[in-house]
Amino acid sequence: MQQFKVLQCPLRVLKDARRCRQPRLAMSLPFPPDSSTAMTATDPVANLQTLIRCPSVTPAEGGALSALEAMLAPLGFTVDKVKASEEGTPDIENLYARLGKDGPHLMFAGHTDVVPVGDEAAWTHPPFEAQISKGELFGRGAVDMKGGIACFVAAVARHIEKNGPPNGSISFLITGDEEGPAINGTTKLLQWAAERGESWDACLVGEPTNPDRLGDMIKIGRRGSLSGKITVHGVQGHAAYPHLADNPVRGMLQLTQALMDTPFDGGTDDFQPSNLEVTTVDVGNPATNVIPAKASASFNIRFNDSWTVETLRAEILRRLDAAAGNGALRPGREAVSYDIVWADRPSHVFLTRNNALIASLSSAVESVSGQSPRLSTTGGTSDARFIKDYCPVVEFGLVGQTMHMVDERVAVADLETLTAIYETFIARWFANAGL
Ligand SMILES: [Zn+2]
Repeated sequence: MQQFKVLQCPLRVLKDARRCRQPRLAMSLPFPPDSSTAMTATDPVANLQTLIRCPSVTPAEGGALSALEAMLAPLGFTVDKVKASEEGTPDIENLYARLGKDGPHLMFAGHTDVVPVGDEAAWTHPPFEAQISKGELFGRGAVDMKGGIACFVAAVARHIEKNGPPNGSISFLITGDEEGPAINGTTKLLQWAAERGESWDACLVGEPTNPDRLGDMIKIGRRGSLSGKITVHGVQGHAAYPHLADNPVRGMLQLTQALMDTPFDGGTDDFQPSNLEVTTVDVGNPATNVIPAKASASFNIRFNDSWTVETLRAEILRRLDAAAGNGALRPGREAVSYDIVWADRPSHVFLTRNNALIASLSSAVESVSGQSPRLSTTGGTSDARFIKDYCPVVEFGLVGQTMHMVDERVAVADLETLTAIYETFIARWFANAGL
């Protein structure tokens, strides 16, 4: 196992953490003094307030990773900050922290970057002040997903306080690029760590997975996502002389209908049916007396485990070719002339079948919240799609109702409950690992 260097000494770290915005109403809002960070790491509310006060809208780090480092280093974690770059995208800071040298090795993954606040004046409480009102903590990232990170840090701190370091290793893999292009984030950080000899036995992603109540839902997989753009080529001409032209809109209607009319499948044991949506149709023709030269349309399909990206592309092409050559729809005409460009970086479908991991998490959720969580694969993609190439991964976090909204907020009671769930999960996973 390779040793990592702590890039910044704790004193420097604490100084960095102070860069985060201080609340305007400091008198009524207890902001944890930096010197007591180690002690307050057991308190998810204080952890979350510290993180929210770092304005880390993608791609800005905003002091959030330094604040996290200041929580983890005193707990014994070796912390590395990893900057990733790629031409055409902003540089991104990421963080990898590990406690322990031996297996089994549990990873917690997430992101400290947040989406923009939108209309700041519309917020009941300013988005980076982390004010608590009527039992709710307000701020951008409260549920997506600084809250999940704050609770996992608290759970680890409590576990260490009660039991000492775990019998194995715990890592934090935290990116600053989940809400952005996701190019300089989790994928590169995983590669960086793997190149240094890191390997993991399981991963928990702390994204908000619960639709209504804490304990509703664990995500054990995700659908895939594939996008493409079709262009139909016609012949421009006068609308009054259509025999001299070829209207591409007619062909485009045939092609989009062929993609949307027939279901791709009826769903599988673990996934809902695959679904394709045409998301835009563009002709851009301002004149009503001109037949345009071309028309284009984009589509996105969310697909289940009866497909791979390759088989799905083949099926889409089969449908388009059949529709394009349908002479009955275009009497006396050639086949529709079209081309298709696939979007980069499709997301592959995945399903986690690691029973020890799912059982440890389900039983922890049930014994703390009293809820028996549904095991689900619904919703959009997440960074779990990259992690699944390295180890089994599941997702469980806060209630997602206010994510990305004005007045994003979390019930303070939920932060306590999630911390208790995470702490129980950590104990059970290490007890079950290797079974
Ligand atoms: Zn998120």
